[in-house]
Amino acid sequence: MPLVEIRALVRRYGKGHAAVEALRGVDLVIDHGEFVAVLGRSGSGKSTLLNLLSGLDSPTAGEVCVAGEDLAGLSGDELARYRSSRIGIVFQSFHLLPGRTALANVAMPLVIDGLPPGERRDRAAAALAAVGLTERAEHRPSQLSGGEQQRVAIARALVRDPALLVCDEPTGNLDSATAAEVTGLLLALNAERGVTVVLVTHDRELARRCATRIVEMVDGAVASEEVIAR
Ligand code: ADP
Ligand code: MG
Repeated sequence: MPLVEIRALVRRYGKGHAAVEALRGVDLVIDHGEFVAVLGRSGSGKSTLLNLLSGLDSPTAGEVCVAGEDLAGLSGDELARYRSSRIGIVFQSFHLLPGRTALANVAMPLVIDGLPPGERRDRAAAALAAVGLTERAEHRPSQLSGGEQQRVAIARALVRDPALLVCDEPTGNLDSATAAEVTGLLLALNAERGVTVVLVTHDRELARRCATRIVEMVDGAVASEEVIAR
């Protein structure tokens, strides 16, 4: 069974003449262990697609199944549980708590889960190690570079061991060298740890270096797909 099955997915915003069809029938199947890079112009529907995949938004029509579960059938509480247990989400902005250390930021989802402090620390430390930031565990975000802050955000997204890591232009705020470093981390997490990744990016070169498949969106639909030998 594929990890993700998206069928005839439509998302319309607004009504009548003002309606915008952000997605107009997207079909996309993603297997376990894939690294799918989503390319496309601004406004082509990439973020809308990721938000539906992440259970942050609901479709107008069509379906999103993840690990055999149809998200449309889930209640608000169940969707929240889906997000916390199955999905790690990384955005362009890092959304770190400024007053907390890197370790405490990474542990935050586990606080919400009600895990005991010892276990939180151990799991957060392991996630920080996975992104190469063990030495920065006690630093606050303001003491970290942009690339390090995004790596902390990636560790936080991984701390619950999600089946799928969803990244919406995670390197959009970073210079090109740092962007390459962060994308290299995503590649390593995919290739060495088997984390399935969906990455929205503007950078075709970076996408070609890390993805196993490139999906190109045009005007709310998948215009082409290309498998990349890695
Ligand atoms: P991308 O991430 O590829 O830049 P988006 O998914 O953000 O594209 O947007 C796709 C289209 O949907 C755009 O035309 C955008 O203006 C529109 N759109 C996105 N979110 C909303 C919203 N909340 N309300 C109305 N229109 C929206
Ligand atoms: Mg976007």
